[in-house]
Amino acid sequence: MNVTTFPKPPRVGLVSLGCPKNLVDSERIMTKLRADGYDMSPDYAGADVVLVNTCGFLDSAKEESLEAIGEAIAENGRVVVTGCMGKEAEAIRARFPDVLAITGAHQYEEVIAAVHDAAPAVPSPFIDLVPESGLKLTPRHYSYLKISEGCNHRCAFCIIPHLRGDLVSRRPDAVLREAEKLVAAGTKELLVISQDTSAYGVDLRHKAWPWKGNEVRAHMTDLARELGKLRTPDGDTPWVRLHYVYPYPHVNDVIPLMAEGLVLPYLDIPFQHASPDVLRRMRRPANDAKVLERIRNWRALVPNLAIRSSFVVGFPGETDADFDYLLRWLEEAQLDRVGAFKFEPVEGAPATVMPDQVPDEVKQYRFEQVMALSAKISADKLAAKVGRTVDVLIDAVDAETGGATGRSKADAPEIDGEVHLRDAGHLEPGDFVTVQVEDADAHDLFGAPA
Ligand code: SF4
Repeated sequence: MNVTTFPKPPRVGLVSLGCPKNLVDSERIMTKLRADGYDMSPDYAGADVVLVNTCGFLDSAKEESLEAIGEAIAENGRVVVTGCMGKEAEAIRARFPDVLAITGAHQYEEVIAAVHDAAPAVPSPFIDLVPESGLKLTPRHYSYLKISEGCNHRCAFCIIPHLRGDLVSRRPDAVLREAEKLVAAGTKELLVISQDTSAYGVDLRHKAWPWKGNEVRAHMTDLARELGKLRTPDGDTPWVRLHYVYPYPHVNDVIPLMAEGLVLPYLDIPFQHASPDVLRRMRRPANDAKVLERIRNWRALVPNLAIRSSFVVGFPGETDADFDYLLRWLEEAQLDRVGAFKFEPVEGAPATVMPDQVPDEVKQYRFEQVMALSAKISADKLAAKVGRTVDVLIDAVDAETGGATGRSKADAPEIDGEVHLRDAGHLEPGDFVTVQVEDADAHDLFGAPA
């Protein structure tokens, strides 16, 4: 009798640091490695090689990446480094000479080859099975969908273009094919990400590709419309959420898609400041003085539009007058979700060496002011939802208490608020449910299935 002995697949440990974009890179790398016959190891001890996908956005993130590399070396010893810190290979080698290989962000072939060198896979036709949708590091019911990489802007506080290069957009048919597979495999919410979603396709001159008997341009509006036409196996419309949108004029064209229900009434726009002078010195794109008027027009078309944004306080040269302008602007704009950051000098960013750096205590004071104002605006807006119903996507269910946690259309995972439900033990993650809102605080809603 012939008995086939399966070779033991080599195991790869993964430490993925940084933003959702990095997480997507890790998913792609692990998907490819799984297809090549590798297993994942949940701990250092069981791994034949450990892959550390680093973040280099801020100096604090770089330090965290170096610490993660050090820990992987100490615990396992066979370490491959990839991600944004790959640009600083010399600094990594100086501190950790035993690192096996260092590759940069999006050098998929290189990082896969480095893992193959470190722990060669044993080919077997019996174990090279990978789900159609690839392997995911997010829960099954939501997925990040990366549509482009890099950025053509040169904001004074940012080193991403230096780390990741100029904008490179994916073909729209490739993005749509990936989205279709994700939705078929259980994804209920697609989170569209890039460095600058509104610039999608500029590098491809918005060329069109065939898709399902039609032509789809490499353009944010076309892509959003096609994503909104996807259906889950149950016939539900998956949520499509747009992140990192800059308020270029053509963003106006996405608002009708929200009114039609093809895209969530949600825009994540990183304004970063409001004072024209600070924005000019930040070298921000789409620095439009009429943005408040445009927000008003968008809300006239889509009254439940939720706008999230982030702001930097204490940028070099930010005066009291600039900061007051920002506070008054925030009062007027009534944004739904706001994240504030104190300006942090990053090595290599032009703002780091600008004159008139703002003292730490002033940054702290301004940070607290913005957070307090935004919390008040958010609390008022959420209080207005009490007594109404909202659509919620369930993230987690606690069978013991019968409670559940989910998010409304106004809440992106990880960064926005949540909806806490009682009497919801019968639900499952990934369920859509209508919720009667009973209470609210500054960030979250509370209620029960309607
Ligand atoms: S738009 Fe500005 S902040 Fe955003 S990635 Fe590009 S350069 Fe950096």
